[in-house]
Amino acid sequence: MPATFHFTVDCDWIPNTERNLPRIFELIEKFGIEPTFFITGKFAEDYSEYVLEMKRRNWEIGSHGLKHGLDPEENFSNRVPYEEQRRLLSESTEMIEKVTGLTPEIFRAPRLKISDHTFKILTELKYKIDSSIPVRRFDFGFGSISNTKHLNKGNSSFYINDSLLEIPPSALFFPMNMRLVRLIGAMATANLINLIKRSSDVVVFYVHPLEFLKSSDLNYVPIDCQQYLKSCGPQNFGLLEEFLGKVMEGGVLTKQMASHLRVTGDG
Ligand SMILES: [Zn+2]
Repeated sequence: MPATFHFTVDCDWIPNTERNLPRIFELIEKFGIEPTFFITGKFAEDYSEYVLEMKRRNWEIGSHGLKHGLDPEENFSNRVPYEEQRRLLSESTEMIEKVTGLTPEIFRAPRLKISDHTFKILTELKYKIDSSIPVRRFDFGFGSISNTKHLNKGNSSFYINDSLLEIPPSALFFPMNMRLVRLIGAMATANLINLIKRSSDVVVFYVHPLEFLKSSDLNYVPIDCQQYLKSCGPQNFGLLEEFLGKVMEGGVLTKQMASHLRVTGDG
């Protein structure tokens, strides 16, 4: 069976970046992709019209924390106590529920920093899927792995505990994301996706709306983002379109992340 390609969009709370969503929506429709959007609680509150549009199109919506984006402090690493992580995640869940009327069941940690506390809380809050454990990778100096025991996991999905499925952000030495497309091009990235597909049930690619905005259009540029922002701008829509075209040409399934959940007999 061909691997499932998961096109995921991380909506950080960074004002003005939401303006790029309509063109991302168009590309998703053009290629008939089932996307997964990870949104922060604050994003849901401030940009509910976009979130409701995602819901109207029956797209998957998960939590991406509370105020990550403008809040550089927020993270779910093992240095952040259980109580604080529980507060961040509970508030995020409630804010997304308030806008969508649905309880999110999928989580992606800000900057992919996650820890055992987080898995416990996700389980307590009845989350079913996490998509934060980075596959062994080189991060261009943006090292964010704080859970080394998972370092040697591959690209395939696996259960963290009885009820929490991990669908890891894919990597083949490099993380499969829009930044890689910006660095090595659409064709080269699609070729890496094709390689991952051969030995994994899932391929997870992620993109940020921030990447389609010139930094001069941002009111606030986080200091550690200067390098990252260098090749950001609307020209990247063309690059993303080319990339998605190549991936779809190569043959992949497109389904919701929730479709991977095993059916349990205890109803
Ligand atoms: Zn993020």
